[in-house]
Amino acid sequence: TRAQAAIARHTRLVDDFPSPGIAFKDLTPVLADPEGLSAIVTALTHGCTEIDLVAGIDARGFLLGGAVARELEVGVLAVRKGGKLPPPVHAVTYSLEYGSATLEIPADGLDLTGQRVLLVDDVLATGGTAVAAADLLNRTGASVVGVAVIMELVGLGGRDTIAGGLGPHVPVHS
Ligand code: IMP
Repeated sequence: TRAQAAIARHTRLVDDFPSPGIAFKDLTPVLADPEGLSAIVTALTHGCTEIDLVAGIDARGFLLGGAVARELEVGVLAVRKGGKLPPPVHAVTYSLEYGSATLEIPADGLDLTGQRVLLVDDVLATGGTAVAAADLLNRTGASVVGVAVIMELVGLGGRDTIAGGLGPHVPVHS
C-alpha cells in the first residue's frame, strides 16, 4: 500500500537506542513526509466510525492523533507524560522494562463521560503504554473502543496485552 511504501522508505532505524540491544524505529521522518502522513491517516481512518474523540500519546501520537482527529471530524486529547500539565490531573503510573512511567490528562475542564475514544500512537511494542493510557481514560468515564498505530512490533506481544487488558473486543489497527 501507499502507507507501507512510505513507512519502509522513511523509517529511521537506530540500533542500541534507548539501550543496548534495542532496535529503535524512529517514525519522525515518516510523519514529515507528505505522502507518508496522508496515506497513513487515510489507512488508519478507513471504515472507522462512531468515534467521539481521539487520544494521542506523547509525543508522536500527538502529531498523528491530530491528523486522524481532523479526518474523523472529532477533537483530539493529548495524553501527556508526567509532570507537563498544570494541576489537577488524572495520572497513571505503569512499569517499563527498566523503571516506570507516568501518563496524565487534565482532571477538570473536560467531560469524558460516555466518550468513545480512539487511542493513537506511532509504535505499539509491549502494549504497556496503550493499556495504561486506556485505563486512565476509562477511569474518567470514557470508553476506549480502538487502538490505532503506524507500526506494531510483532513478537513483543502488544496485541495480546491489549486484548488481555482491555478485552478482545477492542480492535488494534496497525
Ligand atoms: P510499549 O509500551 O512497550 O508498547 O511501547 C510503546 C511506547 O514506546 C510508544 O509510546 C512508542 O512511541 C514507544 N516506543 C517503543 N518502541 C519504540 C520504537 O521502536 N520506536 C518508536 N517508539 C517506540
